[in-house]
Amino acid sequence: MGRLIVASNREPYDIEFRENKLKLHKTVGGLVSALEPIIKSLGGVWVCWGRKGQRIPEVFEVNENFLIKFVPLSEKTISNYYYGFSNKTLWPLCHMFLSRTKFEKAYWTSYRMVNMRFANAILEMYRSGDTVMVNDYHLSLVPNIMRDKGFKGKIFFFWHIPFPSYCIYRFLPWGKEIIEGFLGADVIGFHTQEYVDNFLDCVDRLTDAVIQGNNIKWKGREIKVKAVPIGIDAERWQRDASSKNTLKAVKKMRRELNVEFIGLSVDRLDYTKGLKEKLLSIDRFFDKYPSFRGRMSFIQVAVPSRTKIQEYSELKKEIDQIISTINGAFGEPGWVPIHYYYKGFPSSKLAIFYRLADFALITPIMDGLNLVAKEFVASQIDNRGALILSKFAGASWQLKGGAILVNPFDTEKTADSIYKALKMGPEEKKKRMETMKKEVMEKDLKWWVQEFFEGLI
Ligand code: UDP
Repeated sequence: MGRLIVASNREPYDIEFRENKLKLHKTVGGLVSALEPIIKSLGGVWVCWGRKGQRIPEVFEVNENFLIKFVPLSEKTISNYYYGFSNKTLWPLCHMFLSRTKFEKAYWTSYRMVNMRFANAILEMYRSGDTVMVNDYHLSLVPNIMRDKGFKGKIFFFWHIPFPSYCIYRFLPWGKEIIEGFLGADVIGFHTQEYVDNFLDCVDRLTDAVIQGNNIKWKGREIKVKAVPIGIDAERWQRDASSKNTLKAVKKMRRELNVEFIGLSVDRLDYTKGLKEKLLSIDRFFDKYPSFRGRMSFIQVAVPSRTKIQEYSELKKEIDQIISTINGAFGEPGWVPIHYYYKGFPSSKLAIFYRLADFALITPIMDGLNLVAKEFVASQIDNRGALILSKFAGASWQLKGGAILVNPFDTEKTADSIYKALKMGPEEKKKRMETMKKEVMEKDLKWWVQEFFEGLI
């Protein structure tokens, strides 16, 4: 078994210089949790852009078996490749926000150039027998660039966001090249069969590839396309959620909040996460069910994201405004309807929030998967919480057996679902939570690695 070479836009560690010493902090997210231990045991290389890596050598040794290869980018390239094509073109298009999608030639040119540089960096680090895994919408051209350069090894490619239907995808002027970019891989993974079907339809319409079931034949090669929803380290969440410190903190927060019921949402501050729509439903809930005023508080964690993009800073202002309007309209001395945190918390702190909440209201307008929903489920040690989940989160395919599913645009029904969650009896909550937990525990991170890599690593 060779080493594993992972390529992703983001680095696996936040690298900090303090007193001329390097400190590594693991970055948050499923991918790093899943793959970092594998690279540590098999050996390998993580190829990434390294946004804080200006003072770091291009190849950095975490230990003698684990290297990080940085692909340093200039400010202008970052602006066009990352903020531009990745986050103003592919991100909104794949989340079906066509009116927010920018089609700029300069973005595309830069994206292609960066993908070329990533492909070269992987080839430079590759040793015969290594397995290559390329990640996500920032690097879709990499697999086929590598094939064009004669690469014969095995390439796995995972697309972590939704893949839209052809009726949306066809607007992308460079759609064919991107699809062909994917086809350089041997195995292509998505979170749901719906995304797989959309992708296969686009392959069929835009290329001369032959499709048989979930398999594709192209240029003499066979490519497998799979729906493999990423899992979480469910056991770790259970451990964190049942630790002494967590229980102590939960008790303390309950005392401080001084309400019967607590609702929760944890989202990156992104228009795809449906924060505005959710807040309108909470507003409607307090309006329609006045007996819950003074008895239910909602905690909204909004993690700052892509703040250099104007739309994101405008959205932040709108969210601030809506929350202060709701708190101003319904709040009373001694009771705050919405507690709002505009920052990210470490996972140990999230476990406290998950354990504290009577219900989670996770209502993205469109979301590749949504790990928060799974983390909330895994943390329900006593099966007390209820999950209200958007039908448009990829995770809803796995959690529909126990979640209350909503359309985030349906303000009335979402408000009613909060009422339903608060009124739900303990037996029903337990039954629903156990159904969801089974799925989350069985299809965890280890399962995902096995399934996606087909037992190869
Ligand atoms: N997260 C975190 N701290 C926070 C908020 C979120 O560590 O304050 C983590 C959370 O535990 C989850 C990830 O960020 O693992 C968010 O993943 P998700 O799929 O829900 O959304 P994304 O931000 O990737 O679109």
